[in-house]
Amino acid sequence: MQCPLLYRFRVIDKLPEKPSEAATRGTLVHAVLERLFDAPAADRTAPRARALIPGQWDRLLEAKPELGELFAGDTEGERLSRWLGEAERLVERWFSLEDPTRLEPAERELFVETELESGLRLRGVIDRIDVAPTGDVRIVDYKTGKAPRPEYAEGPLFQMKFYALVIWRLKGIVPRRLQLVYLGSGDVLTYDPVVADLERVERKLLALWEAIALATETGDWRPRPTKLCGWCDHQAVCPEFGGTPPVYPLSVRPAESGEDDQGRMGPVGAEAGRAVALEGP
Ligand code: SF4
Repeated sequence: MQCPLLYRFRVIDKLPEKPSEAATRGTLVHAVLERLFDAPAADRTAPRARALIPGQWDRLLEAKPELGELFAGDTEGERLSRWLGEAERLVERWFSLEDPTRLEPAERELFVETELESGLRLRGVIDRIDVAPTGDVRIVDYKTGKAPRPEYAEGPLFQMKFYALVIWRLKGIVPRRLQLVYLGSGDVLTYDPVVADLERVERKLLALWEAIALATETGDWRPRPTKLCGWCDHQAVCPEFGGTPPVYPLSVRPAESGEDDQGRMGPVGAEAGRAVALEGP
């Protein structure tokens, strides 16, 4: 939804991408917030959370040694300690937004997967699910960036509605609340979905998948430049930046006359977020 050509580079060409400091810090902070709930409620304090950071960073490095490249040449360790300090501030800010001593998550970092009637399979990883004694379900997602301005909130909310749709299809329960916790700016964005929202998301996903399937067949993946291009690793092969994409690795059929406008990936929605995936029937 962000950029069809970027989707092609990532999913079809599988071009490598460099790890980024911001994304890796996000992974680290998520790991710390998840692990903090291992402790008894009364011990889930900010100092304890801060103390988890070095160990979780070591674990991340062990699992993905390539992350060490982020701090290549940082012989004094200055950049690393600044980066860890930023992670600390994000973790600390969480305590001004939620009180983990009063939370008992039903699930953390939950992998979910379901198949729609159309055969389209949806997958994602939900940061946290809380279930109230009444049975009400709350889906919580942590963001290490800043909250978007209200006119741009639909993108992150789409990701949350995607999760809600998956839970609804899996368990027959419409989550009572979707909650985005923005550690970068100290904001909490909530939305209470209804069935019609989830049906709308399902229709949008089907339209998205149809557009992906058609672009896959025709090889017609268009760049959609936005300010997010600044973070894109593929400018060197993007026509918007004077580059030439690699040879398309799949066989293609030519677009039929009149199909062009439908064949290209249209703006079917906003950014889906880091942890949602579609897999076709
Ligand atoms: S540079 Fe921008 S337009 Fe080009 S592929 Fe990346 S995100 Fe898309």
